[in-house]
Amino acid sequence: MTTAQSDARADAARLVTGELVDLLTRGVAGSGRTACHSPLTGEPLAELPEATEEDVAAAFARARAAQADWARRPVRRRAAVLLRFHDLLLRRQDEVLDLIQLETGKARLHAHEEVQAVAMAARHYGRRAPAYLRPRRHAGAFPVLTHVTELRHPRGVVGHISPWNYPLELSAGDALPALVAGNAVVMKPDTETALTALWARRLLIDAGLPEDVLGIVLGEGPVVGPLVVRHADYVTFTGSTRTGREVAERAGARLIGASLELGGKNALVVLDDADLDKAAAGAVRACFSSAGQLCISAERVFVQERVADEFVRRFVERTRALRLGAPLAYGTDFGSLSSRAQLDTVVRHVEDAVAGGAEVLAGGRPRPDLGPYFYEPTILTGVRPPMLACEAETFGPVVAVYRFADDEEVIARANDTTFGLNSSIWSGNARRARRMAARLRTGTVNINEAYAAAYGSVQAPMGGMGDSGLGRRHGAEGILKYTEPQTVAHQRLLPMAPSLGLDDRGYAALMTRSLKALKTLRFR
Ligand code: NAD
Repeated sequence: MTTAQSDARADAARLVTGELVDLLTRGVAGSGRTACHSPLTGEPLAELPEATEEDVAAAFARARAAQADWARRPVRRRAAVLLRFHDLLLRRQDEVLDLIQLETGKARLHAHEEVQAVAMAARHYGRRAPAYLRPRRHAGAFPVLTHVTELRHPRGVVGHISPWNYPLELSAGDALPALVAGNAVVMKPDTETALTALWARRLLIDAGLPEDVLGIVLGEGPVVGPLVVRHADYVTFTGSTRTGREVAERAGARLIGASLELGGKNALVVLDDADLDKAAAGAVRACFSSAGQLCISAERVFVQERVADEFVRRFVERTRALRLGAPLAYGTDFGSLSSRAQLDTVVRHVEDAVAGGAEVLAGGRPRPDLGPYFYEPTILTGVRPPMLACEAETFGPVVAVYRFADDEEVIARANDTTFGLNSSIWSGNARRARRMAARLRTGTVNINEAYAAAYGSVQAPMGGMGDSGLGRRHGAEGILKYTEPQTVAHQRLLPMAPSLGLDDRGYAALMTRSLKALKTLRFR
C-alpha cells in the first residue's frame, strides 16, 4: 500500500465513523445490506441499508403521505428551506468535500465545483420559485368573456435516479427544484457514492425539510431503479444513454413524464484567433476535471491548422504539469478514476487507439503508485473510426486532438455525433464564435470557457440534444417539469354557444365576424 493509500485509509476511518453512518441512514428504508467503497484505497467505506421491493414501496408510501402537507405550505416557506440549505452547505462544506473525495477519488477543487453548483441552484430556486410557480393570467378565448388562469401543481412523488460522478450535484442539486415545487422525492443515488447523497438529505432536514419528503433507497441499479420508476409520478434520471433508454421505456409504458440527462462526446473548438494560452488552460479544465468523468467534459479537441502546432505544444505542456493525487486538501489538479470498471474502460480505449495507429502525446499510463485506479491525463492524436476513443464516450481523462481548415468544416465535424450535450469554442472574435455556437447541435455552448459558464448560469436551461437526453435542468424548464399545468377558464356573461335568441347559423356568422375582428385588432 502506498503512502497516499494509507493516508486515505486513515482519513476514511477518522471521518466515516459508525456514528456518522447511523445518523445519515436514519429513516432510510433497507432490510438488506450493501456497501460503498473508496477508490482511493479500493476498500469498503461503509455498510449501508439495501432496499428490497417492499422497502421501495414503503419509501414511496411515506413520501406520498408527507407530500400533501408539504405542498400545502406556501411556496415562500418551501423556498426558505432552500435558502437555509444554501447557507448550511457553504458553512459545512468541508464535511461534504471530504465525503465526495473519499467516495469519488476526485481532487478537492473539483469536489468544490459541486458545492458551487448546488449553492447556485439553491439560491436561484430559493429566490425565484415563487415567481416560476405563481398562477399566470392568459388571454382567454374571447376578451372580457373568458378569464383564464394557469396553475402549477406538483406532480406528487418524483423518482430521482443519479450516477456516481457528481454525487452531491446530481442527487441533492437536481432534487431542489422538485422539492420547492411541492413534490416529495425518492432518490436512488449510486450506492458507491451514497454517503454524499445521504449527507445532503440530512442537511436538507437540518434546513427544515420534513424528513419523509425526501427518501433514499439504495441497491443495485437494474433492480432498484425499475422499482423507483414503477412507483414514481415523474422520473428524473441522470446516467448513461443505454440506461436512460430503459428508464424512458418504463416511464413511457406508465405514461409518466421523464427527464433524462445522459452521455456526451463533447467537442472543444480552438479557432485561429483564440488566445492560445487561455485556450490551452481551458482545454485542460474541459478534458480533465474530475479525471474526465464529467458528462460535459470534452473528449474531442478540434484546432484550426494555422495555430495547431502551437496550441498542441501548450496543451501538452500544461497537461504534463498537472499535479496528480487526491489528498483531502486543496493543491492537486487531477484525482483518481472512481472504480476499477472506469479504469478498465480507459485502458481499453487507449490501447485500442494505439493499436490502430494513434499516437500518445501526453499520459497514457495507469498510476498504481498513486492509488488503485489512477490514470494519467491523456492526449491522443491520429484517432479515427472505428477506434473506440473516436465515437464512444470514454468518460475518462482521454482526449483526441484533430485539425481542421475552416469554420464550415469544424461545425460539420463537431456535429458528426449522435450526442449533443455541451461544446466549447475558443476565439478572440465574439461574433464569429456566437455565429458558430448557434450552429452547434448541443444543449449548451461555452465561449471562452470549458463548461462551468453555462452550467453555472442556473437561470438558463442546461441539458442535451439527441442521445444526450430529454428535458432540461435549471431555469424555468428545470422547475416547471416537476409540475402539472392546469388551465382554469372561467366563462362570464355569455356562453360559448348560441344564445340571446341566435340560431345556429346566426351564431356561426357572429363567431366568424368576431374572429376576423380579433385578427384585425391584432389579438394574439
Ligand atoms: P448508469 O446509467 O450506469 O447509472 C446511473 C444510475 O442509474 C445509477 O444510480 C444506477 O444504479 C442506475 N441504474 C442502473 N441500471 C438501471 C436500470 N436498469 N434502471 C434504472 N436505473 C438504473 O450511468 P453511470 O455509469 O453511473 O454514469 C455515467 C454516465 O452518466 C455517463 O454516460 C455520463 O455521461 C452520464 N452523465 C450525464 C450527466 C448529464 O447531466 N447529462 C451527468 C453526469 C453523468
